[in-house]
Amino acid sequence: FVSLLGFCSTKNVKDLIVVSVATRSTDGFERFNRSIQVYGLKLELLGLNQPWKGGDVVRRPGGGQKIRLLRQYLESVQDRDDHLILFTDSYDVIINGNGDEIIKKFNTFKANVVFSSEKYCWPDISLATLYPKTDDKRYLNSGGFIGFASDLYRIIQLAKDINDDDDDQLFYTKIYLDKKYREKIGIKLDRNSQLFQNLNGEISDVEIRFNQGSNIVDNPKNADAFLFNKITQTYPIIVHGNGASKIPLNSLGNYLAKSWHPAIGCISCDENEQRINLDHIDHDDYPHVLMAITILKPTPFFPEFLEYLTSLDYYKHRITLFIQSTNDYHNEQIDKLMENFRNYYHDIRYVENKQAKEWQLRNNYLDECTRVNCDYLFVVDSDARLTNSRTLRDLIEANRSIIASMLVRPKEYWSNFWGTITNDGYYSRSHDYVQIIKNERRGIWNVPFISTAYLIKSSLLNLENLSANENNNHRPLSYRNHQQHKNDDNDDEKSFDADMYFCQVLRDNGIFMYVTNLKDYGHLAQMDTMDVSLKHPEFYEIYTNEYEWRKRYIHENYSTNLLDETIIEQPCPDVYWFPIVTPTFCRHLIEIMENHGQWSAGKNQDPRLAGGYENVPTVDIHMNQVGLEQHWLYFLREYIRPVQEKIFIGYYHDPPKAIMNFVVRYHPNEQAFLRPHHDSSTYTVNIALNRPRIDYEGGGCRFVRQNCSVTNLRLGWSLLHPGRLTHYHEGLTVTKGVRYIMVSFVDP
Ligand code: UDP
Repeated sequence: FVSLLGFCSTKNVKDLIVVSVATRSTDGFERFNRSIQVYGLKLELLGLNQPWKGGDVVRRPGGGQKIRLLRQYLESVQDRDDHLILFTDSYDVIINGNGDEIIKKFNTFKANVVFSSEKYCWPDISLATLYPKTDDKRYLNSGGFIGFASDLYRIIQLAKDINDDDDDQLFYTKIYLDKKYREKIGIKLDRNSQLFQNLNGEISDVEIRFNQGSNIVDNPKNADAFLFNKITQTYPIIVHGNGASKIPLNSLGNYLAKSWHPAIGCISCDENEQRINLDHIDHDDYPHVLMAITILKPTPFFPEFLEYLTSLDYYKHRITLFIQSTNDYHNEQIDKLMENFRNYYHDIRYVENKQAKEWQLRNNYLDECTRVNCDYLFVVDSDARLTNSRTLRDLIEANRSIIASMLVRPKEYWSNFWGTITNDGYYSRSHDYVQIIKNERRGIWNVPFISTAYLIKSSLLNLENLSANENNNHRPLSYRNHQQHKNDDNDDEKSFDADMYFCQVLRDNGIFMYVTNLKDYGHLAQMDTMDVSLKHPEFYEIYTNEYEWRKRYIHENYSTNLLDETIIEQPCPDVYWFPIVTPTFCRHLIEIMENHGQWSAGKNQDPRLAGGYENVPTVDIHMNQVGLEQHWLYFLREYIRPVQEKIFIGYYHDPPKAIMNFVVRYHPNEQAFLRPHHDSSTYTVNIALNRPRIDYEGGGCRFVRQNCSVTNLRLGWSLLHPGRLTHYHEGLTVTKGVRYIMVSFVDP
């Protein structure tokens, strides 16, 4: 009956059934279905494996097929006055509450049928004026509604002439706008998102909140993430990514339906029942992986990049390496790789093509994967640093259609995924992006863009499996198709690159992309700083590519120096001695200096100095002559200072200052020794860059007052001693060969 306050239902609910349509089991449907199961709801699924005739519902009106399917279903329950039917879309809906909560909220409406509402009057805006006058502008959305079976049947009977590609929302809107039906049947709109949240245009109104309680850790089933609407102050249960809000829904879906909770972390990550366990598979039966390596620029620390790849924990006979490069900078290194590993990998192919566009190279991988009948395509760009040897295994075992391992540029917010995306397809930061890249939240995240290191199941390459919406024009998986390329001007290609195009195809086809940070998998190299015109350009990457710089150039035992239990050697009183750099460091620094070649004359007159006079001259080259001054100061601060603070307790000067940083060359025919002197420093760093008795004879350092010499110098080890007053010292004669040392006068 119709009360003074409007319609008031008198029916009681006995049973709740969720009814939905999915003609294909898409990623979106799987997510929906999971949420149904998490909350123990009953699902009646309509239309599975039938052709979709409802039109391209994402972009245009359509969806009449959903009405026809629902009508067929309702015929079986048409008389039920106690059956509550919750009808929702499935590809873009997540349910976030159980049956009791849904019924309880439904009852508060005192209606027979409740439709969800949204901000936009779609598909016919002219109908907006016909809506009942209310303070808020809310319009019917048919992606979610709930009502008694008998009442829904009354509505749906009115849809006798509807075609599959007519618009379902328009149909329901017209019924609602007809006062006669609205009041007779008892239809209301959920204007305050009590039950339903349509996200289009309302993303900024909502946020994720988590429940709290001590019982969550013991039983993850108690963990809940809610969607809170800040405007209506409600916790809607049925969340619908209508229209353009599919990407934000994906982001919220990382939490909803008990997927992730701060007390536990990722709950849904390990649920995947088909999770692959490679440990149970014979090596020879491992999936065949095409590892697609792309080099678009000269790459710093390329040998290290290859070393990480060859160290991946996977049976190499089941990997085919396909390397493509647009430059010849690394050809020698690649040749070496092929020489060393040809017999280990299933196959190694290298193609250098300076003319190729990025999208062409990438499309080649898709073709090659099909050609060699691979099970997975593992895309790895040369800026990926896969330091975790489990990466490939973990990506396979996660069993997703496409999944990246998270890589972040150290100390930056730059990563290989986007948290969300602008309407025109560009980068945007999601609410949780920073927490994810900082690993404050770990999980397997559904994101709209991935790049640099990701694994694709070969089944995705098969056209048949693509496209969530059968009436869509198929968009084959590609980094840009040839037709598209012809129609595009160059500007577009610049702004919308191959990766962006590729991810858009995936999004348009309703395929979820994931990025995992369940473990640390590695990082991204900085590709823009390396100056290839330099001798050993990577030597200059001390702060820009610090991780690999350290790995290549800092002595493997360096960090032991800093342990409390390590006693630093003292070959002479107050002369300390410790490992600091690698033999490669020593060799590269010598080669940089020899390549520069402007050795000083070893005379007192020295135009390089402010006063033009050097009291104790050596044959040397200063670090600033080879552009390494700032780098060296950074080295002193990062690597020398911590050891100094341990040795000379109480002396803290941060950052250490030094104007005199230079490589000295001792040679029997040039300068063979250095007379006793004091250094103008608080302390002096003296690193042996080559080896006594192998590279030269004689040499060493004698401390006169202490009457003590260090002659058995160790490659890459540094002496550290007070500069003035106590440590009057001399450089001993080199009798054969050439001796190089790196010297710094710190805090002069
Ligand atoms: N649908 C389907 N097969 C298709 C396309 C759509 O079963 O090929 C169903 C599915 O339930 C989907 C709903 O129709 O959730 C509406 O489509 P979509 O979610 O893409 O559109 P929107 O909510 O944006 O109108």
